[in-house]
Amino acid sequence: MLQSFYKDLVELPGVSGHEKYVRQYVREFLKPVAEEIVQDKLGSIFGGINLSSQGPTVMIAGHMDEVGAMVVGINDKGMLKMIPMGGINAPVMISQHLDVILEDGSKVPGVVGAKPPHLLRDNHTKQVSDFDDFLLDIGADTLEEAKQMGIKIGQQIVFRNDYTILKDGKKIVSKAWDDRFGTAMALDIITSVSATKLPCRLYCGANVQEEVGLRGAKTSSYLIKPDLFIAVDCSPCADTFEDSDVGGKLGGGFMIRFYDPKAIMHRGMLQFVEETAKEHNIKFQYYKSLGGTDAAEVQLSRDGVLVCTIGMPSRYIHSTTSMIHLEDYVAVKNVILAMLHQLDFNKINEIKSNV
Ligand SMILES: [Zn+2]
Repeated sequence: MLQSFYKDLVELPGVSGHEKYVRQYVREFLKPVAEEIVQDKLGSIFGGINLSSQGPTVMIAGHMDEVGAMVVGINDKGMLKMIPMGGINAPVMISQHLDVILEDGSKVPGVVGAKPPHLLRDNHTKQVSDFDDFLLDIGADTLEEAKQMGIKIGQQIVFRNDYTILKDGKKIVSKAWDDRFGTAMALDIITSVSATKLPCRLYCGANVQEEVGLRGAKTSSYLIKPDLFIAVDCSPCADTFEDSDVGGKLGGGFMIRFYDPKAIMHRGMLQFVEETAKEHNIKFQYYKSLGGTDAAEVQLSRDGVLVCTIGMPSRYIHSTTSMIHLEDYVAVKNVILAMLHQLDFNKINEIKSNV
């Protein structure tokens, strides 16, 4: 079973630029564990332990934001116009239940209207399939009524679904695994090692605004100045789709992201991660991505940083829901712990020289 903070975190609202509630949760969680808590001006937050060590600084992060939408307008009928936050294929929005999050954190529920087939028969009207055409129906009859419900331009909109453990007991479905999983894993790691002796200084936490262009990682890496950075992020599995050459199987172990368009994995890091996994009998799979993670941004900070992404296999991410597997959770956690315990300056220099 996953600890309860995984469920707590996926259920919180937090599209890009609206990570407040997630950050508050992370801060409260870190308070009793961390020697210090640091936050940059964009809102990324980290807890540090073992800070008196003379060893290298290691940074582990998920990202707090999830894909969703933002209110950009209210029409005369009280319907809301939206723009996507992060990469979402528009058709997944049709007929979905969504929540608008008000300033006080309360929710205004709504549905994205779909045209019934009865209204599409004449071939002149088409099903809406573009973000610009979607309307979120919150049950307000006028613009004024929508405002009275507390709706304002700029508010975040999140997907509404229930955290569900499937019948096999190993697969869990929820919104926002990408990347509350990584956020929760960073907290999981810091609590797991807080009582052990580490060869490095360690900062664990989460970045903001990854889904809109890896923004939070840029500023947080300047704040923490890591010698080595591990991004924990969800990577899509295509194992339920035919004819896909994208790798990744749910339950197949963590993913070594050896290539994406924004980061070619450092040869020394690749060897380090492979050897660590093999030595500890941790299941892994190779993954070539078409996107990027915070690792790409941190890699380019200052005079360059050793980075890797430890990928959590996930089905259906960047839609309204997603699915993960408990065995992959174990693989992700174990490989990060096994890496951490080796990371002194000798190891860092060995990895660096193997470029
Ligand atoms: Zn992500």
